[in-house]
Amino acid sequence: MDSSSTSGGAPAVSIVAPCYNEAECLREFHQRAAAAARGSCGDSFEIVLVDDGSRDGTWGLIEEIARQDPHVVGVRLMRNHGHQLAASAGLALARGGRVMLIDADLQDPPELLAPMMARMDEGADVVFGQRTARHAETWFKKATAFAFYRLLSRLAAVPIPRDTGDFRLMRRRVVDVLVAMPERQRFLRGLVSWVGGRQVALQYERQSRFAGHSKYPLRKMIQFAVDAITSFSVGPLRYATYLGLIAAGLGLLLLLYTLWQWVLGATVIGWSSTMTAIVVFGAVQLIVLGIQGEYVGRLFQEAKARPLFLIDRVVAGGADHRLPME
Ligand code: UDP
Ligand code: MG
Repeated sequence: MDSSSTSGGAPAVSIVAPCYNEAECLREFHQRAAAAARGSCGDSFEIVLVDDGSRDGTWGLIEEIARQDPHVVGVRLMRNHGHQLAASAGLALARGGRVMLIDADLQDPPELLAPMMARMDEGADVVFGQRTARHAETWFKKATAFAFYRLLSRLAAVPIPRDTGDFRLMRRRVVDVLVAMPERQRFLRGLVSWVGGRQVALQYERQSRFAGHSKYPLRKMIQFAVDAITSFSVGPLRYATYLGLIAAGLGLLLLLYTLWQWVLGATVIGWSSTMTAIVVFGAVQLIVLGIQGEYVGRLFQEAKARPLFLIDRVVAGGADHRLPME
């Protein structure tokens, strides 16, 4: 395995799962993840469970599991930081030579660790799960996801594979790069693509949740999509310029028409055309300003350079574990 890049005593594999109100899934997840890890690496693994400020019994359960199983590292964040930051916290704490990032709701089968390890043995730096089917997700989620991945791959400067989530196995050197990236807008799957190296897909069918419901309401999905696009493309700014040019062209035509009417001596023509022009050009200006605002707002967020996440507590089955934030 990656013995060259792991420090003494580090496990061969870390399985990192962000958990937000996943109490109903955790026991089953822990069992299946531990079985999968044991099958691939014997005793040399850890499971990092990050509690992203849950309000149900998630943290109590993580503490309990960590006390029973010395392979489990439980991390509690100070509050809810969101999926991508919770995953980043888990990656920062993971010590394994290879790290698998996975959701705690069992939509991504932990058993795929074995085929992912096999691909990595053949030389891949990253093995990402690519969804061929999504079970029991609403047509709305499937349709928006379909459109989002296609739009993103048109806009983004780095090739971001379609229909992939954050479910993937990464080599230590890739994880180190991710952890060292200071950016706050963390669209992880894009950042992983950005790192490059040998990245291969492993196709799988996305399952339905083991229990509970999705923590990604429409509001968070839109936020996620805008974050992804603005952190990987300046395309929208360019299209805003095109929009402005088109509006200017239309305005010029309108001006010529108005002058022509003046020449004909028929300057007082209705109110409708004036209103239409004001509304349309006003809207174009606001859209363009809004797009610029998205980028300026993100500059503001990044410029403040606050820590990405704050760790409240770490429990690690008796073994000592470092606390990067202290
Ligand atoms: N999650 C998180 N913080 C959040 C929202 C979600 O850590 O604010 C976790 C959640 O517990 C799950 C993973 O991120 O393990 C994916 O979330 P979810 O299953 O709700 O998203 P979906 O699969 O519906 O896109
Ligand atoms: Mg899910």
